[in-house]
Amino acid sequence: NKRLEEVKSLVSAHPDFPKKGVLFRNIFPVLRDVHGFKTLCDLIVEHIKSTSPDVELIVGLDSRGFLFGPIIAQLLGIGFAPVRKSGKLPGETYKVSYKLEYGEDSFEIEKSSIKQDQKILIIDDLIATGGSMKAACELVEKAGGNILQCFVVIELNCLNGRDKVNKPVHSLLTY
Ligand code: 5GP
Repeated sequence: NKRLEEVKSLVSAHPDFPKKGVLFRNIFPVLRDVHGFKTLCDLIVEHIKSTSPDVELIVGLDSRGFLFGPIIAQLLGIGFAPVRKSGKLPGETYKVSYKLEYGEDSFEIEKSSIKQDQKILIIDDLIATGGSMKAACELVEKAGGNILQCFVVIELNCLNGRDKVNKPVHSLLTY
């Protein structure tokens, strides 16, 4: 697919970032290219319309899920809600903790974000080990959401992140 190739050609690779041994995929050059970003948004919207046409709310992960979530939600004519690292959201929240390579982190969502059984699509830029997406799924379900799919622009195949997530995971680009 020519459009996928166009987007993929704009993603840059950075060896040993943020630490030795990691090959970091950088999505920002796609956003810097007005045509490339338009193509990416079109591809995401087409994908969602064909796979989860009845989605009612987009939930984006802190922080690069916020780059795509709101614009895709607007294009679909639905709302957006953020999952944030803990301590960033006001009011009443649900919280889940998840393990990192060293230590622990936690995600929160505002209790008022999701209606009971609302049909949700979770979006992020990239899935690596799947730990973030797994935690986000637990949180969205705790808040009453019905997860239709988890969508990422980039999937790092070799880490098998999708196996950790017990919901359908869809990606546009794989490495
Ligand atoms: P996971 O929890 O699946 O191991 O890591 C996924 C999270 O870490 C995502 O929120 C993603 O933004 C970030 N991440 C991990 N590796 C990369 C990478 O190579 N490029 C980018 N852009 N984000 C990454």
